[in-house]
Amino acid sequence: METGDLVRFRHCGRTVYTLGSPAGLWCPACGLAVRLGLMEAPVRIRIPLRDGHRTACCFLITSRFGAAGFSEENESELHVGISNSKGVVFNYTESGIRCQQQGWEQSIVIPLVAPSNDSLSFRMLWDEQLETYSRLNTWTAARFQEQREFGSCCYGFALSFINHVMKEEGKQPISRERFTSQYILPRTEATSRYLSVYQHVCQHGHYMTGDGDGP
Ligand SMILES: [Zn+2]
Repeated sequence: METGDLVRFRHCGRTVYTLGSPAGLWCPACGLAVRLGLMEAPVRIRIPLRDGHRTACCFLITSRFGAAGFSEENESELHVGISNSKGVVFNYTESGIRCQQQGWEQSIVIPLVAPSNDSLSFRMLWDEQLETYSRLNTWTAARFQEQREFGSCCYGFALSFINHVMKEEGKQPISRERFTSQYILPRTEATSRYLSVYQHVCQHGHYMTGDGDGP
């Protein structure tokens, strides 16, 4: 599935999503050209996927099916990892820990470091901790199935690394439930919504919401 950015504008009391440049748009409800007025100026909505190898110190979610894997039907196939400061993605699989420099080009990206906390020394420490943590006996190929039975596997590795760093910083650990509901679900749901609108736009040229009586 090829993906790109959507353009959103309001006309006839409706919200319209389409593809293309914000200049030269027309409203599918009334057929008129859309004027680039201040209030209803079209805005570009960027696809919520980024190149994970261009991130530093982030939690990444990707899919073996590319962008299509983020649609609702395929969500069980999602895979997660942690990037180091150079965009190398550490992730736990059935062959143990992989450190990948490719394969995460279409990822949901969750930054783990506040910009105020980001420094060269922090990044060096992060990389060192990530490498050390990856070498622990917990993350061997042989134990992958065992981990999976406890619902852990790739997510278990990523989250326990985050909690390892929090502990080093003297912070309280974050539970799986809280991390999932606060950080993961809002983003996977937004991505899934984006992609279903995008697919509709590809098939029909536009996607419209509202009944025409709106503001
Ligand atoms: Zn219109």
